Parts: sequence; C-alpha cells; structure tokens
Amino acid sequence: MGEAMEFSFWPMVMQVVSLLILLVALGEGALVLISGVRRYLYQQEVYGLSLENFEERLMTARTRTINRNREANSWAGLRKFRIARKIDEGGGIASFYLEAHDQKPIPSFKPGQYLTFSLDIPNESRPVIRCYSLSDSPDPTCYRVSIKKIPPPRDQPELPWGKSSSFFHDQLEVDSLIDLKAPSGDFFLDLAKNRPVVLIGGGVGVTPVLSMLNALAERDLDREVHFFYGVRNAEEHIQREHFSELAARFPQKLQIHVCYSGVPTEELPEDPNVRYYSEFVSVELFKRVLPSSNFEYYICGPPPMMNSVTTDLREWGVPDADVHWEGFGPATVKAHRPKGTEDKSGVTLMVKFAKSGNELEWNPEIGSLLDFAEENGITIDSACRAGSCGTCVTAIKEGDIEYIADPGSPPDSGTCLTCISVPKSDLVLDA
Ligand SMILES: Cc1cc2nc3c(=O)[nH]c(=O)nc-3n(C[C@H](O)[C@H](O)[C@H](O)COP(=O)(O)OP(=O)(O)OC[C@H]3O[C@@H](n4cnc5c(N)ncnc54)[C@H](O)[C@@H]3O)c2cc1C
Repeated sequence: MGEAMEFSFWPMVMQVVSLLILLVALGEGALVLISGVRRYLYQQEVYGLSLENFEERLMTARTRTINRNREANSWAGLRKFRIARKIDEGGGIASFYLEAHDQKPIPSFKPGQYLTFSLDIPNESRPVIRCYSLSDSPDPTCYRVSIKKIPPPRDQPELPWGKSSSFFHDQLEVDSLIDLKAPSGDFFLDLAKNRPVVLIGGGVGVTPVLSMLNALAERDLDREVHFFYGVRNAEEHIQREHFSELAARFPQKLQIHVCYSGVPTEELPEDPNVRYYSEFVSVELFKRVLPSSNFEYYICGPPPMMNSVTTDLREWGVPDADVHWEGFGPATVKAHRPKGTEDKSGVTLMVKFAKSGNELEWNPEIGSLLDFAEENGITIDSACRAGSCGTCVTAIKEGDIEYIADPGSPPDSGTCLTCISVPKSDLVLDA
C-alpha cells in the first residue's frame, strides 16, 4: 500500500511541476507577445507621426521654394511678354499664353492672383491699364489669362465694345508683344493649408478659381473640394471636358456642380462626373449638396451672384474670415463697401479737390472717392476701379482716408487709391 502511494505520489509531483513550468513558460511567452505588440503599435505611432511631420516639412519646404522663386524672378514696373498661344475657349472667351520676351525665368504666383497689363491701343491717348486673373496653375514657362470680349451694355448697344478685351480678341495675335506687371493680388488659395474648400465662379469670374482648382489637382487634391460654376448655358461653359476629366480623376475628393441658369432641367447635359442644375449658384444649392457649411469659400463672379452668395453665407453662419472674394469691377467693390469700415452716417465730412478748387460735402452713399470725384465732374485717371492697378493713386494733402477693399499693393504713404477709399476725416486731395 505504502509502495503504491509512493508510486502515485512522485508522478503527481512531476505533473504539478511540469504544469507550473508550462504556465511560467506560457506567461513569459504572453509577456513577450504583449511587449512585441506594444512595440509594434508604438513603432506604428512613431512612424505615423514622423510621416505627418515629414509631410508637414515637405509642404513647408515646397511653399518656401515657391515663395523664393516668386521673389527671385519677380520684376518691378513693366516687362515685355510674347503671346505664345491664343486659344478660343468659346462663350466669347479666349485664352492667351504669355512667355517672357527676354526668355528669362518668370516668377511663380499664388493661384487666384492676377496680372496687370499696360496696353498701347491704337487711337488711345494713353496706355489702357487692365487686370486679368491667371487662369491656370503656376507653370515655370508661361502665364495664362482667359479674357472675355465685353459687349456694350444691353440698354446702350450704341456704345463701343470693351477697349482692352476687344484689343486682345481682335488685334493681338501669336507673337504680339505686350507689357505687364508681375503677378499680384490678395485673393489667393493658400496651398500650404489643407482645409476643405468651396470654389465658386460665375461667368468669366471662373478664371481665378479655375487656377486654384488646377493647382490643387497638381497636388493630387490634398483636400475635399466642391466647385460651383454658374453660366447661362453650354455656350458660355468653358473648359467643359477639362472639368469632367478632373472630376473623374478625383471621384472621392472633388465634386463639380455646374449651374445653367438659362436651361430647363430636361435639357441639361448628362455627364456621369459632373452634376448639372437648372438654377443660379446660390447658398440654397450649397445647403442641398454640401455635407456642412464648414469650408473655406472662394468666390468670383458677377455682382448679383457675389452679393447674394456672400450675404447668404453669413446668414448660414459662415464666419467672414472663411469667405474670400474678388470682383472684376467697380460694382462689386461698391457692393462690399461695409467690409472693415466704420459707419460714418450722421458725420459730415468735407472733401477738397485742391487742383480743381472744389470743396464738397462727402456723400457716403456714393461709393468711393473716385466715384465722388467723377460725380462732381472732377477727372482722376483710373482703370481697374478695384484697387488693383494703381492708376487712380492720388496724393493726400491733408486728412485721412480708409479703404473699403484691400488694395492689391498698398500705395506710397501720403497717397491713396481713390477707387477703393473713402474719407475718414475732412480731406484735401491733390486732384
Ligand atoms: C483683379 C481683376 C481680375 C480680372 N480678371 C479678369 C479675367 O480673368 N478675365 C476677364 O475677361 N476679365 C477680367 N477682369 C476684368 C478686366 O480687367 C476688364 O475690366 C474687362 O476686360 C473690361 O475691360 P475693357 O477695357 O474690355 O472694357 P471697357 O472699355 O472698360 O468697357 C467696359 C464696359 O463699358 C462700356 N462702355 C464703353 N463706353 C462707355 C460709356 N461711355 N459709358 C458707359 N459704358 C461704356 C463698354 O461697352 C463695356 O460694356 C478682371 C478685373 C480685375 C479688377
């Protein structure tokens, strides 16, 4: 019996010991495994962070290179460019590809910026100054502008067609030389950020936002983009295939919405990549198709579209800081007069035009000092009427002004761009 117990006791001890050894081994194995998994997860996190960091550094370096190139090759005053290509885009719009006549490098630009042209037009006593937005992404060899030939106002068909736009369309050909200032302007897309954007173009106002879209496409669309383009019909719709191709290339990140205000729904084109609507571009449409209002908005188009969209975006709760716009003419600037200005109603200010000797009571309803001067028969040279070209710059002899829109490039101190300024105190201008 004692022998039998001894016989079964030792194997049991052995079994317990082996079990313990097994458990210890398993425990150690588990510890090794857990620490391995932890190390793996940690490495993944570090890798992710360093990738993010790397991407950020790459982006900063790229932006720095672009800025360096922009500054290095820029020029002061006018530079001669040759028209290398002239392409009919349809809808009365033609694109002009411009190469530096001196064949030296040209500066890059920020998508959304414009060029200022000084045109020697036959029978004009002085150069005609006009601004045109760059309509493509930056290209180190040339600039592209797309220009619409402007007809007389509908109610005054006897008036001449637009001077500069007709000159471009009818007289400038491949190999013609023209003078232009370096790219400038504060309406541009910051490529260093990657906040989702809504780009909105109406008519020929599509040009700066098209440049933004093309620049984003070159970077493989690093953000969500909704592009709204408003025209009356297919004839006015430029770059139709290009838009469709882009939308097909980036189905996850890019949505293109085209509004034909003059075409009934049943006659809208069918395109699997582009959404067409029979209506004007509006915030009502944005509410229907955007996932939220949380975007940065870039808008350029005719005054009624700009006015309604900017006003309705504010009502929709979009902060002013997220809404960027550019007007192609004076009406738009007037429409946005309240931007950053104090309400002067109730305050009587006097404006004296020293050269002409007129002293007049300022009328805040009238818009800008340039409009005010013209209304009172005083001539100040002007061109873009949007604070861009610098033609209307006038010396301030006494008093102070404030700007109702941001100047393209601020003029020398003691002077002002009359097309976008209003008096802040009694004023004496050298005009
Ligand atoms: C920053 C900026 C960017 C721009 N980008 C572009 C762009 O990318 N593409 C583009 O096409 N345009 C653009 N423009 C608009 C462009 O600069 C010109 O304003 C436009 O081409 C019209 O100029 P014009 O000389 O052809 O017309 P203007 O000669 O200035 O005539 C304008 C209108 O006035 C009418 N008119 C003529 N005489 C009279 C009169 N006596 N009384 C009343 N009306 C008269 C004309 O018939 C015409 O309808 C931009 C403007 C700015 C400020």
